[in-house]
Formats: sequence, structure tokens, C-alpha cells
Amino acid sequence: MLLIDQILGWIQKYETIIIHRHVRPDPDALGSQGGLACLIRDNFPGKKVYAVGEDAESLRFLLPMDAPDDAAYAGALVIVCDTANRERISDARFGKGSRLIKIDHHPVVDSYGDPEWVDTSSSSASEMIASIYRTHPELKMTDSAARLLFAGIVGDTGRFQFSNVTPETFLTAAELIKHPFGRQAFFNDLYRRKLALARLNGYVLQHFTLTEEGVGFIKLPLDLIRSFNLESSDASLLVNCFSDVENLKAWVLFSEEKDSIRARLRSKGPVINRIAEIYHGGGHPLAAGATVHSWEEADRMIADLRTLCRQEPLQMNSSEKDA
Ligand code: AMP
Repeated sequence: MLLIDQILGWIQKYETIIIHRHVRPDPDALGSQGGLACLIRDNFPGKKVYAVGEDAESLRFLLPMDAPDDAAYAGALVIVCDTANRERISDARFGKGSRLIKIDHHPVVDSYGDPEWVDTSSSSASEMIASIYRTHPELKMTDSAARLLFAGIVGDTGRFQFSNVTPETFLTAAELIKHPFGRQAFFNDLYRRKLALARLNGYVLQHFTLTEEGVGFIKLPLDLIRSFNLESSDASLLVNCFSDVENLKAWVLFSEEKDSIRARLRSKGPVINRIAEIYHGGGHPLAAGATVHSWEEADRMIADLRTLCRQEPLQMNSSEKDA
């Protein structure tokens, strides 16, 4: 509460506020960034507010990016949402303002803000932004803000199924859907995918490996991805496509980019961000990522996952838990 008030205090003091988020934005990056931009625009009229970062074609429907010139940063307040470390901030100008604030729900790997508001118990950065509204009922929330924040929560909780969902998450979502932002159209937009991606999804389901330790993996070389008329960023969207297979404990999807290989790791229990960190990546205990530079390095990551999962019992299914 104190931190929220401090941040609102800084927002009040600055005339220009520029909001950043992480590279390769997901719905929570854009939802928290756009939700905060709405909060400021709708409640502190007269301020110049910019949301910046590279464009993400498939999520453009959520939030168009602004393009302020360098001069806008002089004397500006810069707020970075949903980004644990400096290297992952989209738009390198984030250090050019006169104050830098971090709002994030990832475990801290790099303290770059002053102040920093980090809440790892929150499902999403969007839920954190929504909590500013919830703790300050005098702030007006528009339908656009509600839509963006709902998008971020839906994205980072996998439609309310992951363990990061708390009673607070549902209470927040309940408040957000009171706004008539066109939920059905929004879901259609968020989960629409290209036919080519559906075909690649079929390929991944046919070809992923499931080891005896419960590790799932798929390696997608760039020439294979291109043979489906797709790019690496499309292929990486398939990270959860075999997550429902029995006996799976943790898994990784490798999608090759021009000069490196992106690894997206997920887990049902074993803590995988420590493995991502070995490869200079990071993330949450059950959802992490890293970049590797050869298929041999990818194989080492798979071996590390197998060692980790060998020691972990398979999670009980829900009927066993209830018994
Ligand atoms: P992703 O698979 O991109 O959705 O990433 C899952 C989580 O891991 C994200 O919340 C990121 O914080 C983190 N992450 C992904 N890639 C990296 C990376 N290269 N370095 C640090 N953290 C990462």
C-alpha cells in the first residue's frame, strides 16, 4: 500500500511518463503497460503518457505503441512493467528519464528501479496494476483499462488454471468483467491463430519426446519452422501444446532464431527457473526461459531437466488428493 502511494506520488509529480515492458511482449506485458497508461491518462489529465516497445504483430489488437522521440525522456518519469532485468526491457532508452520505477511480479534478478514494487505472490503485473485501482476506489477505471488488465491476468494464469491464481486474482477478475469491454470478441482475438501454426502444432504433437523421467522436449530448427511459413516467434507460442500429456513433469520447447535458440521451459512441480539461470535466463519457478547458442547446449539443458525430474515424484492427480 505504501509503495503504491509512493508510486502515485511520483506520477503526480511528473509531467511526462513513459511506460516500458519486456521484449517479445505477452498479454501481461502489454496489459500492465497499457493498464497503467490508462490509469494515468484517465485520472491525471494533462500529463503526457507514452507506452513504448517493439511491436508484436499478433497482439497489436491489445495496445498500439507510441513513438516518442528522445527529447521526451528529458525530465520524464519512466516506469517499467513486468520485467525482471534490464536486458529484457524493450526500448533501450529506459535509462534516459530522470527517475526509473519498476513494477513486477517476477523474482528479483536485477534491482534497477527506485522505487521498486515487486510482488512475486501476484499472478501478473496486470493484477498488481489492478490492485492500484482496488486500493484507491477514487480512481476511475475505463472499459479499455479493464480489458487490458483482464488480458494480462488471463495470459499469465493460462485462463485461471496455473498455481499463481489466488482468491485475489478471481476477485480482481470479477471486478474487471463488470466492464462491458466485449469479452467474447477479446477471447477470440487473443486465441486466434494462423492455420500454419495449427499445422506446426500437429507436427509438435507428433514429434515431441517424453523421457522416462517425465521431461518433454521438442527442438524446432529454423528451416523446419520456415517450411511451415512461420517464424521462430510463432513456433514458440506452442510451448504448452503437449502440457496435458500424462507423466509429464517439466518440458522445454526450443525454437531456433537467426543466431541463437530460444528455450521456453515449463513445469508442473520441479523448480525450473534455476535451470534457466544456469543458461543465463530466468523466470518463475514453473515458467522460465533462456537463450542457448547450439543444439549441444540445448541437449545439456535437457540433461539437467532429466536429472532434476528424476528426483521429483510425479504430482498426485486431483482424485488422489481428494481421497
Ligand atoms: P516465456 O517462456 O518467454 O513466457 O518466459 C517465461 C518467464 O521466464 C517469463 O516470465 C520471463 O520472466 C522469464 N524469461 C524468459 N526468457 C528469459 C531470459 N532469456 N532471461 C531471463 N528471464 C527469462
